[in-house]
Amino acid sequence: MKTALVYSEKADSFDYGREHPLRMERLPLTWRLMRAYGLTTLPHARVVAPEPAAETDIARYHTREYLDVLKRADRGLDPADGAVYGLGLGDNPVFRGLWEVAQLVAAGSLTAADLVASGAVDRAFHFAGGLHHAFPDRASGFCYVNDAVLAILRLREHGLRVAYVDIDAHHGDGVQHAFYADPHVLTISTHERGERLFPGTGFVRELGEGDAAGYSVNLPLEAYTDSAVYLPAFEAVVPPLLERFKPDVIVAQLGVDGHRTDPLTHLAFDLQGFVRAFARLLPLAPKIVALGGGGYDVRNVARGWTAAWAALNGVELADELPASYARDIAHYGFTSTKLWDAPAAALPEETQRAVSDYVDRQVDAVQTTIFPFHRL
Ligand SMILES: [Zn+2]
Repeated sequence: MKTALVYSEKADSFDYGREHPLRMERLPLTWRLMRAYGLTTLPHARVVAPEPAAETDIARYHTREYLDVLKRADRGLDPADGAVYGLGLGDNPVFRGLWEVAQLVAAGSLTAADLVASGAVDRAFHFAGGLHHAFPDRASGFCYVNDAVLAILRLREHGLRVAYVDIDAHHGDGVQHAFYADPHVLTISTHERGERLFPGTGFVRELGEGDAAGYSVNLPLEAYTDSAVYLPAFEAVVPPLLERFKPDVIVAQLGVDGHRTDPLTHLAFDLQGFVRAFARLLPLAPKIVALGGGGYDVRNVARGWTAAWAALNGVELADELPASYARDIAHYGFTSTKLWDAPAAALPEETQRAVSDYVDRQVDAVQTTIFPFHRL
């Protein structure tokens, strides 16, 4: 099995602004942990740096008018009509190099898709990607260009059957929107329920339209859902649909903001649960394109994506973080020197029951409304 890690050191030179929760430094922090574990020099894995994507590649999904606005915003000044395109508000600030970084992120996911589609590798991981909220003509939720959609479109151009699985704590609304009427792409998103969290969508009833009814799958989760509740729910919904759909390739969005210490969400996964959900996808398709996503506790981002890259390569990691990572452990205030999380304190029994009941009902709803479209 051959793999590729797509990473650009340039990502570090951009900044959403000091007050913004999306810290670009999470990317080099992740890279350094991968390197410390010896995961950047694996014998069957290559490391590939993407070149910024051509505008025509990005225009495959986004409107020309919107891309013109992004280009004008690249100098770091708010374009007059920015608000119409979701720019300049708290979530999607305008900063110097915005267009350049959007091109770079798009390029990374397109490169990952190309490497997999051409057969050069079987699995690729672009952890700067997974910006799943962007719409064709609008920035949303810290996302300007939807690299996940671009990667899926590229894989489709190669004639591949694609399933998209999104385990970010937020609903993968931008990707769902792109393929809502396309039965050739199955999208599955598990996320904190829309009444509690941005973007406010992702209910079971959003199941696709026309021929694509049943090909947009949502599993909402209650606040405080932990790995013990999440993993069985994931198992009940995701593998049966993928086994039935038989994708050539799975595009996995690995937002790690469902972690219990993430400051923006209310889910309560541990790192083990996050990696187990991802690892469960590996036997379900011959090829994988993995992308990053949300993650606002940078220590979880580094550990989660390092562990995911190890799983993608079938490598077991020592629980003790490498000694050569000590500076980052100290600087970023890691609360432990272990890769894996210690058990969390148990929730009050009543809360635990409410969480399981909610998630059970959602699983039932998916099984009753979605499974029949797949003759399951
Ligand atoms: Zn998220």
